[in-house]
Amino acid sequence: MSSPVTSQMIEVQNYFGGAWHKSAATQYSNVVNPASGEVIGRTPLSTKAEVDQVVQAAAAAFPAWRRTPPGERIQYLFKLKNLLEEHIDELSRMITLENGKTFAEAKAEWRRSIENVEVACGIPTMMQGYNLEDVTPGVDETLIRQPLGVVAAIVAFNFPAMIPFWFLPYAIACGNTFILKPSERVPLTMQRTMELIEKTGLPKGVMSIINGGREVADALCDHPTVRAISFVGSTPVAKHIYERSAASGKRMQCQGGAKNHVIVLPDADMELAKQIIGDSAFGCAGQRCLAVSVAVTVGEAQKTFRDRIAELASGIKIGFGLDSGVQMGPVITPESKQRIEGLIAKGVADGAKAVVDGRGPKMSSPYDHGNFLRPTVLDGVPATSSLADTEIFGPVLSLIHADTIDDAIEFIRKSPFGNQASLFTTSGAAARKFRYEAPAGNIGINIGVAAPMAYFPFSGWKESFFGILHAQGRDAVEFYTESKIVIERWSRQETRKF
Ligand code: NAD
Repeated sequence: MSSPVTSQMIEVQNYFGGAWHKSAATQYSNVVNPASGEVIGRTPLSTKAEVDQVVQAAAAAFPAWRRTPPGERIQYLFKLKNLLEEHIDELSRMITLENGKTFAEAKAEWRRSIENVEVACGIPTMMQGYNLEDVTPGVDETLIRQPLGVVAAIVAFNFPAMIPFWFLPYAIACGNTFILKPSERVPLTMQRTMELIEKTGLPKGVMSIINGGREVADALCDHPTVRAISFVGSTPVAKHIYERSAASGKRMQCQGGAKNHVIVLPDADMELAKQIIGDSAFGCAGQRCLAVSVAVTVGEAQKTFRDRIAELASGIKIGFGLDSGVQMGPVITPESKQRIEGLIAKGVADGAKAVVDGRGPKMSSPYDHGNFLRPTVLDGVPATSSLADTEIFGPVLSLIHADTIDDAIEFIRKSPFGNQASLFTTSGAAARKFRYEAPAGNIGINIGVAAPMAYFPFSGWKESFFGILHAQGRDAVEFYTESKIVIERWSRQETRKF
């Protein structure tokens, strides 16, 4: 079967020292169009020895890059922004092809990615330190920020472009050399992006890509020359990367999984709530780390919200994300589909009612081999069901009922995750209470996907984040720089010479 978009099978390569390299790997992971099941590429599972080669190339580039003035370093980012804008449609199609999300969702992902490039262009200001004269008479103290050296990012499949761009622009603008390990399931978008990065004339070795799976991830964590690791993925792997990188003395920021709650109060604008929560729960087929997964309805909202969201979920058009009118694409793999269907069955077995059941949709060729599910709404998931705490990462919204806002917040408090929590209300007092009390890193008030803009850190609490400094914004600058304190005293004798 040929791909609906391209019949070419793409051989994924590594990029380091300013050139493309065919990997010496003997094992590969297929890149599959999740809508059709067609193999569209092959990711080499590179070896530990290849990781070392890439790190050496990045280390060799560091001294000159570090000495390049920040104002010059960002000129490459300005060029990159323009190239990304010019190629945004092509790059968005690539995301749809390998990840499955719709073209509109892919383009929105690129807008977020480009926004990070724009913010990192402010590094000459953002990277400035601070100082104070006369900390004691005649003694001045200064804080300066210096790049770390070689830094690396290991990333998830669900945003093939945006997640790398949470790190890449800041890392290199701060003067580091950067190594990316894309998800082996979706390496094509960043391979094409690397070709555009090359066109900016970025000095060789400043940006590298090493493809592979866990062996590459572990080798990056262990490598003594790599100074920092940024990670995005599931919680068990986030913990593993955090511990493994700590063992070799690195700094880390590890973003993990999520189970995001939204509370719907009876005074909410139900039409707004339906649209926004529906987009959050079912957009990107529920494969966003900020997707709403549990809606806690309070009081009368139980019925008014349930009826509306069920109607919306039933009407969503699924299909290949490049076809017009398609609102939701497939999930990433057949295993994910199977797992999600199993979790729906578990919810029903535990006592929930599938008011909309998205299991096993019939698709016509060539999408009958795709990983499609329809949106699912599970009403009355018991708090005791393991489903209440399990990350589903699919288009499934669980409904839970609470008598009061305090009871609803308690559900969030008990969750092991803390990526996002949202509230729908028209009451300012309820909104303030929620903002004050909700134990999550990203809070939405009448917002379904509380994704911070690039100039704010992407927060995350509890099992959703391991580390201190987050991705994006000022946190990124602190993460990618070492602060150095200089305390100076100059003898007054010296000035008498002049
Ligand atoms: P994953 O944990 O399976 O993989 C993430 C990365 O880790 C990949 O590059 C993979 O090659 C590598 N990896 C996988 N297993 C490994 C192991 N045992 N040892 C070392 N490296 C390993 O995650 P995924 O399926 O690609 O992504 C989905 C997950 O990511 C979800 O849990 C989602 O919530 C989470 N996510 C979180 C955020 C956030 O901001 N908190 C953002 C996006 C995705």
